[in-house]
Amino acid sequence: MKRLARCAAASVVLQLAALAVGSSSILAADDYTLPFYDPTVTISYGVDRDRSLNRQLDWTGQVWNDGQPHWGRVYDQHTGVDYPMALRSAVAAARDGTVVDVEGGYGTTQFGSFGNFVRIRHADGRHTLYYHLASAADGGIGVVEGASVAAGQFVGRSGCSGLCYGAHLHFEMLVWSATLRMYQPVDPLAERRWTTWPGRVPFDAVYVRESNGGTEVIRHGWTITHWVEFRNTGGRTWRSSGSGRTNLGTWNPGSHPSPFRASDWLYSFLPTFVDQASVPPDGVGRFTFGLKGSPEPGSYSEAYNLQAYGLRWFDHVRLGSYYIPILVTQ
Ligand SMILES: [Zn+2]
Repeated sequence: MKRLARCAAASVVLQLAALAVGSSSILAADDYTLPFYDPTVTISYGVDRDRSLNRQLDWTGQVWNDGQPHWGRVYDQHTGVDYPMALRSAVAAARDGTVVDVEGGYGTTQFGSFGNFVRIRHADGRHTLYYHLASAADGGIGVVEGASVAAGQFVGRSGCSGLCYGAHLHFEMLVWSATLRMYQPVDPLAERRWTTWPGRVPFDAVYVRESNGGTEVIRHGWTITHWVEFRNTGGRTWRSSGSGRTNLGTWNPGSHPSPFRASDWLYSFLPTFVDQASVPPDGVGRFTFGLKGSPEPGSYSEAYNLQAYGLRWFDHVRLGSYYIPILVTQ
């Protein structure tokens, strides 16, 4: 399998943050992801889980009684999670949802009020907010109100608009309070809404190996089995969200003229799937394909685009396109 000379999915050095989890025993819900891609980004201030003045409860479970800011932990009455990042860094949706509000009229570093932001409503009723973005004129707003977004989708670029003293993303998660009849901020770290610790890039994978690293030889009319393995270098477990094994689309007639037909990728007969029900971070997932040598004998470079249908957190788009050199013989 060769890689097409397209954007390479950079292999990142994993940052396994040695962070104490405190006494929290809440199981990770694993249903949101970090709102950015840069693996070097780490938390500066989390949500103050104790709203009373001069008393802070940080995301590790530690209590402070001084009202002072504590770098990496919390400052008093903070309602979101701050991630310092360079101006105009890419910001991503934390979950599938609908954009319900957008503000892009402030300057990228214009101080005052709320500044530029994107607000997304999710199927579970929660909202997420991405504050201090760059101005719309500066490319800070990547979505329009009413748009549907997928988890991990680019939604804008960071800035320092609004009440901001240094370029960062203020990420906020809100839950509707029936009592107060308004949305209230909650701490995504306390609720373990994601298993990705700060600083670990949510989506990433690297090519490991395949069943035949050279030219795949298929006798005309015969079928071969080909598998390829990817290591999950991201911070999320790849999971099949459907029942049983997960199909991978391997060929798209609309984007790729080829002598091979979709029916030659025998996903109905010999399914293409990730052979495990789930692949945890640092685990290796194997995808098996059946390919039939239907075209006339000859040499082909058959591209296949990994498309994960019903497989969560396996970001096939970032892996780019691959092709297998194929020789069909008599
Ligand atoms: Zn903040």
